[in-house]
Amino acid sequence: MKTSNEVLAARAEAVARGVSHVTSVVCDRAQNAEIWDLEGRRYIDFAAGIAVCNTGHNHPDVKAAVIGQLDRFTHTSFNVAMYPQYVELAQRLNALVPGSSPRKTILVSTGAEAVENAVKVARVATGRSAVIAFSAGFHGRTMMTMALTGKVTPYKAGFGPFPAEVFHARFPDETVGITVEDSIASIHDIFHEDVDPARVAAIIIEPVQGEGGFNIASVELLQALRKLCDDHGILLIIDEIQTGFGRTGAYFAHARAGIEADIITMAKGIAGGYPLAAVTGRADLMDASPIGGLGGTYAGSPVACAAALAVLDVIEREGLCARAEAIGQTIEARLIDLRQRSRKGVIGDIRRLGAMVAMELCSAEAPHAADAALTRALIAEAQKQGLILISCGTKGNVLRFLMPLTIPDAHLEEGLAILEQSLATL
Ligand code: PLP
Repeated sequence: MKTSNEVLAARAEAVARGVSHVTSVVCDRAQNAEIWDLEGRRYIDFAAGIAVCNTGHNHPDVKAAVIGQLDRFTHTSFNVAMYPQYVELAQRLNALVPGSSPRKTILVSTGAEAVENAVKVARVATGRSAVIAFSAGFHGRTMMTMALTGKVTPYKAGFGPFPAEVFHARFPDETVGITVEDSIASIHDIFHEDVDPARVAAIIIEPVQGEGGFNIASVELLQALRKLCDDHGILLIIDEIQTGFGRTGAYFAHARAGIEADIITMAKGIAGGYPLAAVTGRADLMDASPIGGLGGTYAGSPVACAAALAVLDVIEREGLCARAEAIGQTIEARLIDLRQRSRKGVIGDIRRLGAMVAMELCSAEAPHAADAALTRALIAEAQKQGLILISCGTKGNVLRFLMPLTIPDAHLEEGLAILEQSLATL
């Protein structure tokens, strides 16, 4: 298998169909915000492995930390022989999450596993079972996280039945007139029609819906949820898996609401590409589980912990939270300008929090109608011209920008220029 085409052909034979693919790039190597394929073609990376490589591909400090760890040991399992990296990372996450309550942390390997464990903690700590999530939300591909996920296709279709006692409230959407009040009212409707609030263990929300289309939870919504949870003894779980670690201009996107979550889930950007995820929550809640009730063989791999500790240092030292805001402002300004110069109606809503920027593509013939085909065509054209783009959204028409936060200005400009040229050819 020497060429990209050979790999792609072999993939069709060997790899299950459900493993989806947005581009046809076959990676050979990557450095910061650049990827090279097997033929040596170079791409600017506006995906960062789906918000994972916030510190860029192969950051020298992260690589050095990983190699240093590999020289010592790869795996013991934390419950056989604990290691300092696990504990130090827990301490740093406890101190980093917004709020003043004492915190404790568990480490796991994937985002879905973090959400599963957050629900387990919420249930064991409250003695309640129901969970409320939001329409268009995404929390993973395991049974409970599929149940929590709002979007049916492709994540849930045919995979049921799902765990019971999961209910969906409406996520605000100004474009169709769903306000924060409507969203909160939909939770009260659930209390009246489906489940007594005294049986609800937790409400889970993404501070910016990632897969759902970069829909931003307003400060007003987050504060209203905090109050509603306090009124009913319900725990607030904030899923920062896509938003965390500098991406939105702060370590955590809910910080701007000045609220304290009871439990926070993290993954993706935490370790720059090594499989690691975390659940950090109020110490009293995190301690409610029986000994041995939380964990997993690979949970908190020492190699991934070493990477995460280095990632946290890089975010701090390189000022990546401020850099995210600057990147976001640059992209937003370019997209607004592009919208003015493009065929009327093709570029719809542009929204952002920090460097999490989204642009909707609509049909020129029917303004405001989602155009998923145009979005796919633009991603394909951009790839031909040397730019990796990805999409999201329940209608498949939202381009999302998730480049490494370490991207040099020249590469950011180069990518934006390719985006513009690609759109012009369609
Ligand atoms: N939660 C959110 C907000 C996500 O964006 C994702 C992944 O995209 C997940 C959970 C699931 O994470 P993983 O794919 O690592 O299981």
